[in-house]
Amino acid sequence: MDPKLGREVSRYFGRFPADGAALIVLSAPGDQIHGRARGTGAASILFFLGSDLDIADARRSWELVHELVHLGFPSLPRRHLWVEEGLATYVEPIARARAGELTPEKVWRDLVRGLPQGLPRPGDEGLDRTHTWGRTYWGGALFWLLADVEIREQTGNRFGLEHALHAVVAQGGSIAERWPLRRAFEVGDRAVGTRVLEGLYAKMGPLPGDVDLDALFRRLGVALRGKAVDFDDRAPLARVRRAITERR
Ligand SMILES: [Zn+2]
Repeated sequence: MDPKLGREVSRYFGRFPADGAALIVLSAPGDQIHGRARGTGAASILFFLGSDLDIADARRSWELVHELVHLGFPSLPRRHLWVEEGLATYVEPIARARAGELTPEKVWRDLVRGLPQGLPRPGDEGLDRTHTWGRTYWGGALFWLLADVEIREQTGNRFGLEHALHAVVAQGGSIAERWPLRRAFEVGDRAVGTRVLEGLYAKMGPLPGDVDLDALFRRLGVALRGKAVDFDDRAPLARVRRAITERR
């Protein structure tokens, strides 16, 4: 795979997350663009690119970055699909913002608008048990945002989620490996010296969980004003917010 292709993702993970990964681009009708990362046999991405588009569109697309993020986490049992999809949903825009391809405003606006779809609805169970689209993608993304914020709070912003993920990848935890979820969380937690991943999982995996999103965004200093967001740099977690999406 062209190393430049995964530039944003390599930067986020500290290295290209899966050695020898294959990218297979298949032509499809119209302007469709979507892909699928797989770990069976070896790491690969099947990417469907509409004939109305060209390879430059694929390179610029969020869809390709989403699939590349999938390479950087081990394959899990099916009931934890939300862990994998949530991670790709959460990390994709952040990796692009850090590479200067998206503004922090765009990333936070999309989180403010998207994450409510991940909250439990009446009758929903934990993320391991309710497998709707909203809970899988946005509920999973919420888990990872909470983890990132909590790791930064507990370590005085010395470490963030990416440091936990670096350790998982460094121990060979790419999509080509099958790991139990517990192992991935143990490796990640140990790397940053917290129990954040295991603790959050205990609250959100088997149980619906209880997250006050408005309070979280207030603490981060993110407020929606019409279609845009305003940042409050005096908010208690403003530094955490900046560390997550600042260009580096
Ligand atoms: Zn995905």
